[in-house]
Amino acid sequence: MPHRLIPFLLALSACESSPLTGPLPEFNEQRAWSHLETQLAFGPRPSGSAANAALRTWLDGELRALDLDPIAEPFTATTPAGAIEMANIYADLQGQRPNGESAPVVILAAHFDTKRLPFEFLGANDGASGVAVLLELAQGLSQSGPHPLTYRFLFLDGEEALREYWLDPDNTYGSREHARLLRASPLLPLVRAAIVLDMVGDKKLRLFREQISDPRLLETFFDAARDLGLGAHVNGPSQEIYDDHQSFMALNIPSIDLIDFNYGPSNAFWHTADDTAENCSPRSLGITGRIVLAGLARLEERWR
Ligand SMILES: [Zn+2]
Repeated sequence: MPHRLIPFLLALSACESSPLTGPLPEFNEQRAWSHLETQLAFGPRPSGSAANAALRTWLDGELRALDLDPIAEPFTATTPAGAIEMANIYADLQGQRPNGESAPVVILAAHFDTKRLPFEFLGANDGASGVAVLLELAQGLSQSGPHPLTYRFLFLDGEEALREYWLDPDNTYGSREHARLLRASPLLPLVRAAIVLDMVGDKKLRLFREQISDPRLLETFFDAARDLGLGAHVNGPSQEIYDDHQSFMALNIPSIDLIDFNYGPSNAFWHTADDTAENCSPRSLGITGRIVLAGLARLEERWR
């Protein structure tokens, strides 16, 4: 996406430990990488395309295979290119609390659409990387626990602008639709945080200190990264970046955008034909996944 202000082997891999809550779920970066490659095999996946719909069907199957119960959230977006049928897809992993009280909710989100461009744009980083990490997080979290928090795995359509440039409201169609429905939902008071993953596959990964993000929540994840020995991959340039987290901030949900908005030399690979698998790495997906899991462990401790 996004835009700046201006212009098997489960048994073989060791679990990393958090000082707060003990063993974290497995994050299998090779499996995450296979999720990225699967998405690229669909070709460009702009909202409204057959490839976009096929991708959703695949996501639905992957979530069901984890014993989750995915829900499609279809809507018609009014865009500068006309009406486009879009759909988010999400699944909740129910948290467990003593006395049957309702668990606080943390939304984990990534966009699966790719930008409509006049060349073959595969969106390995801008689109596929966040989805790949999110799907692997769903696997790790659903196969561990029980967790004291409910996790909503939210796959978003329509993040990209239909215009070449970013001019509101031509962007973040899916997250704005999800937020609109959440606003009227009894779930809203339970939602404590939203974590957006976008452009997290860059071989040289350094997550930005994104300036719209909730600073305390961002620091929780960056601090967790430092404790994992991954401090070199966080606390990058300070910059405001327009992205799906804004839709949740608009509901007063503390939200962060985990993003490296410097993809290739001077961000030259962003929204270009160079956004391919060769410029991403399994390792970067793994770094991101482990940072998210360690940050979530802290939130589980904080909101236990
Ligand atoms: Zn983009």
